[in-house]
Amino acid sequence: MSGTREPRIGAVSDQTQTSVDELDPDQIEVDDTDPDEEEHLDPEAAARRSEALAHVRKFGDPVLRTKARPVDRFDETLSDEVRRMGELMTDAVGVGLAATQVGILHRVLVYRAQPQAPVAALVNPVVEWSGSELETAEEGCLSLPDVLVEVERAVHVRVTAQNELGEPIAIEASGLEARVIQHEIDHLDGVLILDRTSRSQRKDAMKALRAALGDG
Ligand SMILES: [Zn+2]
Repeated sequence: MSGTREPRIGAVSDQTQTSVDELDPDQIEVDDTDPDEEEHLDPEAAARRSEALAHVRKFGDPVLRTKARPVDRFDETLSDEVRRMGELMTDAVGVGLAATQVGILHRVLVYRAQPQAPVAALVNPVVEWSGSELETAEEGCLSLPDVLVEVERAVHVRVTAQNELGEPIAIEASGLEARVIQHEIDHLDGVLILDRTSRSQRKDAMKALRAALGDG
Protein backbone atom coordinates (compact mmCIF):
# COMPACT_ATOMS: atom_id res chain seq x y z
CA MET A 1 0.00 0.00 0.00
CA SER A 2 1.38 3.39 -0.86
CA GLY A 3 -0.47 5.22 1.84
CA THR A 4 -3.41 7.51 2.14
CA ARG A 5 -3.94 11.19 1.67
CA GLU A 6 -4.59 12.11 5.28
CA PRO A 7 -1.18 13.55 6.03
CA ARG A 8 -1.62 16.16 3.32
CA ILE A 9 -5.26 17.01 3.02
CA GLY A 10 -6.69 15.74 6.27
CA ALA A 11 -9.98 15.15 4.51
CA VAL A 12 -10.31 11.45 5.10
CA SER A 13 -10.70 9.66 8.33
CA ASP A 14 -9.25 6.19 8.32
CA GLN A 15 -7.20 6.57 11.43
CA THR A 16 -7.18 7.91 14.93
CA GLN A 17 -6.23 11.51 15.50
CA THR A 18 -3.11 10.36 17.31
CA SER A 19 -1.69 8.61 14.32
CA VAL A 20 -2.56 11.52 12.02
CA ASP A 21 -0.50 13.75 14.26
CA GLU A 22 2.39 11.34 14.23
CA LEU A 23 2.57 10.99 10.50
CA ASP A 24 5.17 13.11 8.83
CA PRO A 25 4.19 13.92 5.26
CA ASP A 26 7.83 14.13 4.26
CA GLN A 27 8.43 10.60 5.42
CA ILE A 28 5.24 8.90 4.37
CA GLU A 29 4.79 8.96 0.66
CA VAL A 30 1.10 9.07 0.02
CA ASP A 31 0.96 8.69 -3.72
CA ASP A 32 3.27 6.65 -5.86
CA THR A 33 3.76 9.04 -8.70
CA ASP A 34 2.34 12.40 -7.77
CA PRO A 35 5.00 14.92 -8.91
CA ASP A 36 4.24 17.14 -5.91
CA GLU A 37 5.07 14.27 -3.62
CA GLU A 38 8.19 13.37 -5.51
CA GLU A 39 9.54 16.80 -4.69
CA HIS A 40 9.54 15.90 -1.01
CA LEU A 41 12.22 13.27 -1.60
CA ASP A 42 15.84 14.18 -2.02
CA PRO A 43 17.37 12.91 -5.27
CA GLU A 44 19.03 9.96 -3.57
CA ALA A 45 15.80 8.84 -1.90
CA ALA A 46 13.89 9.36 -5.14
CA ALA A 47 16.39 7.13 -6.97
CA ARG A 48 16.09 4.46 -4.27
CA ARG A 49 12.36 4.71 -4.57
CA SER A 50 12.18 4.20 -8.30
CA GLU A 51 14.70 1.35 -8.04
CA ALA A 52 12.45 -0.32 -5.42
CA LEU A 53 9.29 0.32 -7.42
CA ALA A 54 10.88 -1.43 -10.40
CA HIS A 55 10.76 -4.63 -8.33
CA VAL A 56 7.07 -4.27 -7.51
CA ARG A 57 4.66 -6.05 -9.85
CA LYS A 58 2.23 -3.70 -11.52
CA PHE A 59 -1.40 -3.96 -12.56
CA GLY A 60 -1.80 -6.36 -15.45
CA ASP A 61 0.65 -8.89 -14.01
CA PRO A 62 -1.40 -12.05 -13.41
CA VAL A 63 0.44 -12.74 -10.16
CA LEU A 64 -1.51 -9.88 -8.57
CA ARG A 65 -4.71 -11.81 -9.24
CA THR A 66 -3.42 -15.09 -7.84
CA LYS A 67 -4.21 -16.38 -4.37
CA ALA A 68 -1.07 -16.90 -2.32
CA ARG A 69 -0.34 -20.20 -0.56
CA PRO A 70 0.06 -20.63 3.19
CA VAL A 71 3.64 -20.78 4.41
CA ASP A 72 4.65 -24.04 6.08
CA ARG A 73 8.43 -23.70 6.08
CA PHE A 74 9.88 -21.18 8.45
CA ASP A 75 13.42 -21.26 7.19
CA GLU A 76 16.12 -18.90 6.07
CA THR A 77 14.45 -18.44 2.68
CA LEU A 78 11.42 -17.03 4.47
CA SER A 79 13.41 -14.68 6.67
CA ASP A 80 15.31 -13.48 3.60
CA GLU A 81 11.99 -12.83 1.86
CA VAL A 82 10.67 -10.89 4.82
CA ARG A 83 13.84 -8.82 5.13
CA ARG A 84 13.88 -8.02 1.43
CA MET A 85 10.20 -7.07 1.43
CA GLY A 86 10.79 -4.74 4.38
CA GLU A 87 13.68 -3.08 2.54
CA LEU A 88 11.66 -2.68 -0.65
CA MET A 89 8.70 -1.23 1.22
CA THR A 90 10.96 1.21 3.04
CA ASP A 91 12.78 2.28 -0.13
CA ALA A 92 9.49 2.59 -1.99
CA VAL A 93 8.21 4.77 0.88
CA GLY A 94 5.17 2.54 1.18
CA VAL A 95 3.26 1.62 4.32
CA GLY A 96 2.67 -2.02 3.37
CA LEU A 97 3.74 -4.69 0.92
CA ALA A 98 2.42 -8.18 0.23
CA ALA A 99 4.59 -11.01 -1.09
CA THR A 100 2.41 -11.32 -4.20
CA GLN A 101 3.49 -7.80 -5.14
CA VAL A 102 7.06 -9.03 -5.53
CA GLY A 103 5.97 -12.17 -7.36
CA ILE A 104 6.14 -14.56 -4.40
CA LEU A 105 2.94 -16.50 -3.81
CA HIS A 106 3.40 -16.84 -0.08
CA ARG A 107 0.96 -15.54 2.50
CA VAL A 108 3.39 -12.98 3.87
CA LEU A 109 3.00 -9.25 4.32
CA VAL A 110 5.03 -6.46 5.83
CA TYR A 111 3.78 -3.09 6.98
CA ARG A 112 4.66 0.00 8.95
CA ALA A 113 1.73 2.18 9.86
CA GLN A 114 3.87 4.64 11.82
CA PRO A 115 7.02 6.22 10.36
CA GLN A 116 9.17 5.43 13.42
CA ALA A 117 7.89 1.91 14.00
CA PRO A 118 9.96 -1.11 13.01
CA VAL A 119 8.77 -3.09 10.00
CA ALA A 120 6.13 -5.61 11.10
CA ALA A 121 5.82 -8.93 9.29
CA LEU A 122 2.79 -11.22 9.31
CA VAL A 123 2.94 -14.77 7.98
CA ASN A 124 -0.32 -16.59 7.24
CA PRO A 125 -2.43 -13.68 8.54
CA VAL A 126 -6.13 -14.26 9.15
CA VAL A 127 -8.71 -11.66 10.12
CA GLU A 128 -10.34 -13.35 13.11
CA TRP A 129 -12.74 -10.53 13.82
CA SER A 130 -13.80 -7.25 12.18
CA GLY A 131 -15.67 -4.57 14.11
CA SER A 132 -18.93 -3.35 12.65
CA GLU A 133 -17.69 0.23 12.43
CA LEU A 134 -16.68 1.02 8.85
CA GLU A 135 -14.80 3.96 7.42
CA THR A 136 -14.10 5.13 3.90
CA ALA A 137 -10.72 6.61 2.99
CA GLU A 138 -8.52 7.04 -0.03
CA GLU A 139 -5.94 4.35 -0.63
CA GLY A 140 -3.07 4.05 -3.03
CA CYS A 141 -1.17 0.92 -3.98
CA LEU A 142 2.43 0.43 -5.04
CA SER A 143 1.15 -1.90 -7.80
CA LEU A 144 -1.28 0.70 -9.15
CA PRO A 145 0.67 3.81 -10.17
CA ASP A 146 -1.31 7.07 -10.21
CA VAL A 147 -4.35 5.51 -8.57
CA LEU A 148 -6.08 6.73 -5.43
CA VAL A 149 -9.56 5.42 -4.75
CA GLU A 150 -11.93 5.42 -1.82
CA VAL A 151 -12.21 2.12 -0.02
CA GLU A 152 -14.50 1.21 2.85
CA ARG A 153 -12.86 -0.91 5.56
CA ALA A 154 -13.48 -2.03 9.10
CA VAL A 155 -11.96 0.41 11.60
CA HIS A 156 -11.03 -2.32 14.08
CA VAL A 157 -9.76 -5.81 13.31
CA ARG A 158 -8.24 -8.65 15.24
CA VAL A 159 -5.72 -10.62 13.24
CA THR A 160 -3.89 -13.81 14.04
CA ALA A 161 -0.74 -14.79 12.19
CA GLN A 162 2.70 -16.22 12.71
CA ASN A 163 5.99 -14.42 12.84
CA GLU A 164 8.85 -15.43 10.55
CA LEU A 165 9.92 -18.04 13.12
CA GLY A 166 6.50 -19.68 13.03
CA GLU A 167 5.44 -18.44 16.44
CA PRO A 168 1.77 -17.46 16.77
CA ILE A 169 0.97 -13.78 17.10
CA ALA A 170 -2.27 -11.87 17.59
CA ILE A 171 -2.80 -8.22 16.76
CA GLU A 172 -5.58 -5.83 17.59
CA ALA A 173 -5.36 -3.05 15.04
CA SER A 174 -7.33 0.13 14.47
CA GLY A 175 -7.36 2.98 12.02
CA LEU A 176 -4.48 3.15 9.56
CA GLU A 177 -2.86 -0.03 10.88
CA ALA A 178 -6.11 -1.96 10.43
CA ARG A 179 -6.57 -0.48 6.97
CA VAL A 180 -3.07 -1.39 5.82
CA ILE A 181 -3.36 -4.96 7.11
CA GLN A 182 -6.72 -5.44 5.36
CA HIS A 183 -5.29 -3.98 2.13
CA GLU A 184 -2.30 -6.35 2.21
CA ILE A 185 -4.37 -9.43 3.11
CA ASP A 186 -6.53 -8.58 0.11
CA HIS A 187 -3.38 -8.82 -2.04
CA LEU A 188 -2.76 -12.33 -0.71
CA ASP A 189 -6.22 -13.24 -2.03
CA GLY A 190 -5.69 -11.58 -5.41
CA VAL A 191 -7.97 -8.68 -4.50
CA LEU A 192 -7.09 -5.08 -5.42
CA ILE A 193 -8.50 -1.76 -4.25
CA LEU A 194 -10.10 -1.47 -7.70
CA ASP A 195 -12.42 -4.29 -6.62
CA ARG A 196 -13.45 -2.41 -3.50
CA THR A 197 -14.29 1.02 -4.85
CA SER A 198 -17.19 2.54 -6.74
CA ARG A 199 -17.74 1.89 -10.42
CA SER A 200 -16.99 5.48 -11.38
CA GLN A 201 -13.75 5.59 -9.39
CA ARG A 202 -12.71 2.28 -10.90
CA LYS A 203 -13.32 3.70 -14.35
CA ASP A 204 -11.12 6.75 -13.65
CA ALA A 205 -8.49 4.50 -12.08
CA MET A 206 -8.37 2.33 -15.18
CA LYS A 207 -7.84 5.42 -17.30
CA ALA A 208 -4.98 6.54 -15.05
CA LEU A 209 -3.45 3.06 -15.15
CA ARG A 210 -3.56 2.89 -18.91
CA ALA A 211 -1.76 6.23 -19.07
CA ALA A 212 0.78 5.31 -16.38
CA LEU A 213 1.55 1.82 -17.62
CA GLY A 214 1.34 2.70 -21.29
CA ASP A 215 -0.72 -0.22 -22.50
CA GLY A 216 -2.98 1.86 -24.69
ZN1 LIG B 1 -1.47 -2.60 -2.63
